Amino acid sequence: MSNPYKTREGGATVTVFVPYDCGNHCPFCINKKEYANCEGFSLEAILKSIRTMNELTPRCDFVFTGGEPFADLAALQQMLDAIPTTHKVYINTTFPVQQAYTADEMIAFTEKNRDKITCINISRHLVKYVEESPDEVIARIACPTRINCVLFRNYPADRLLDYVERFRRYNIPIQFRYDYTETTPENLYEEEHDKILQDLKRLFTYKGLDGCRMRNGFHFDYKGLHMTYHKTLPYSTIVEKDADGVTYDILYDILIKQTGEIHSDWTGVKLDVDAYRKVVYEPYDLRVLNGVVDF
Ligand code: SF4
Repeated sequence: MSNPYKTREGGATVTVFVPYDCGNHCPFCINKKEYANCEGFSLEAILKSIRTMNELTPRCDFVFTGGEPFADLAALQQMLDAIPTTHKVYINTTFPVQQAYTADEMIAFTEKNRDKITCINISRHLVKYVEESPDEVIARIACPTRINCVLFRNYPADRLLDYVERFRRYNIPIQFRYDYTETTPENLYEEEHDKILQDLKRLFTYKGLDGCRMRNGFHFDYKGLHMTYHKTLPYSTIVEKDADGVTYDILYDILIKQTGEIHSDWTGVKLDVDAYRKVVYEPYDLRVLNGVVDF
């Protein structure tokens, strides 16, 4: 049996795995194997789970990921429509070049849903793994956008400046990401031997650090462009005893899988939905740890 649940005020972030694939094969992707066999995937079951999570935590954040959320706009529309506007909604996408929809149709979708989508996070890596829609198309997206860039293994650091200039032209902020399968409690805040952090500090102006038990962000500025270097642990439950001696599972992320099943962690643990109805809330432990984070 799991411990009683605790989470931050507002509730843990709910990440929804869309029930259709992306067609790509990025080398660091850990979601891909779940899309190899689509048996049991169910949009209806996902919609039901979205409604359940809305009922339990009506102000939590939702994130759509995949697979590729933009590969089926009709299904994505249904899922967005199931989420009331009390929630922030983020979409992780490559904003793909695809047969099913033109760029103009995808842009029109963002215009139609601009009031529902808080931010679209677009994957663009230093090394290209997918066919990318032109940057001019990305710049036309009607909602706030951010670029996500995984700096994977021996990434070409000599291309970083050109890469940042590429998006500075459109004033799209960038989030660099550590390969989170490599993150541990020991190296989460370790700076001296973090090659990515040292590369970014050498090239850009370091502004400050914010973080919590689970994840953090080192913030940078380059000619007015905001960049973050994000690290997070590969799981999302912290087991901790409080001052009264009660041990809690502290949840940061909840997952709605492609089948609609609700999990309490990335590691395959199912959420006890009834236990989560009695979740204890604590203030969010994310705070500025040094410097200035005023973006
Ligand atoms: S596009 Fe995204 S989901 Fe698809 S293989 Fe790449 S990282 Fe994985």
